[in-house]
Amino acid sequence: MGYKDSPKRIGVLTSGGDAPGMNAAIRAVVRSGIYRGFQVFGIRRGYEGLLNGDLYEMNLRSVSDIMSRGGTILQTARSKVFNTPEGVKRAARMAEMFKLDAIVVIGGDGSFRGARDLSKEGVNVVCIPATIDNDIGSTDYTIGFDTALNTVKDAIDKIKDTAFSHERCSVVEVMGRGAGYIALNCAIADGAEACILPEKEFHIDTDIIQPIIGCRNRGKHHYIVIIAEGVGGTMEIAKQIEEITGISTKATILGHLQRGGSPTVKDRVAASLMAVKATEVLANNDGNKIIAMKNEQYIAIDIDEGINMKKYIDETMIETSKMLSL
Ligand code: ATP
Repeated sequence: MGYKDSPKRIGVLTSGGDAPGMNAAIRAVVRSGIYRGFQVFGIRRGYEGLLNGDLYEMNLRSVSDIMSRGGTILQTARSKVFNTPEGVKRAARMAEMFKLDAIVVIGGDGSFRGARDLSKEGVNVVCIPATIDNDIGSTDYTIGFDTALNTVKDAIDKIKDTAFSHERCSVVEVMGRGAGYIALNCAIADGAEACILPEKEFHIDTDIIQPIIGCRNRGKHHYIVIIAEGVGGTMEIAKQIEEITGISTKATILGHLQRGGSPTVKDRVAASLMAVKATEVLANNDGNKIIAMKNEQYIAIDIDEGINMKKYIDETMIETSKMLSL
């Protein structure tokens, strides 16, 4: 058997922030890859592991019983060394040394930019969008978003119980980096009285105080204000609400609990279908693609094109959130 006939060797890594459903994606890359006749290698700790040649061959049983677990069995990292032209060259050299025909990168937009840089060094890459933030322009959906929404919803439901009992205002900071998708969806799902997004300029009087006073005049006695992390200043906002309105106000920063937990059905299915699409691209001798969900369909977009796509916050959702909190 000549080299050309030998099985394709593909690497898989998870990079950037972890997201529930990454394990389901790894499992589906390994299983569908082996189904298509590939040898599949797990690369530990994202690009850091690639730089160090830290990889191992995976088999069908390497991914048993991981689907229900949050996090990533391959672990992840934010590699400073890789994020330099020399780092990318070294990583490409390592991929060549291990004779990897392609690398499947599961991660967020930073990880995709890293993959694009690798592709310029001759490494074939396929990217699978996984981040709780849902902030990748090329795809309507990213793995982990639904699980994070449900985690935040559960937390705010609990905060609401105590806010009701004490007739309080609760200010809740949710994750999302520079994007407000978690904040806005949870504002609708939890009926927040105000929601502050990094995509929109805000003024405390018009966007928080007036809605709260309006709600109080209409008979409400407790209030939820959601602040996306990209806005910042959550503690200070809570202090100002209390000072201006006289309403007892507590701030909660939900933090990293939003990244963990067993993935929802939606995330397991999306991860599985995106990963199978990724190995299909490679089976067709194609590559340098981002797998995306567009209008409920899974498609492969050219990486150079996909990386420059922008995503915008849905104005109808903002209006809906305001209308329903009256
Ligand atoms: P999340 O959105 O969940 O935080 P992410 O993939 O966007 O995930 P980043 O920390 O931005 O997370 O990126 C992950 C890794 O990708 C970085 O640590 C770095 O090694 C690499 N990377 C990020 N940006 C670039 C870039 N512009 N060029 C090359 N590599 C990059």
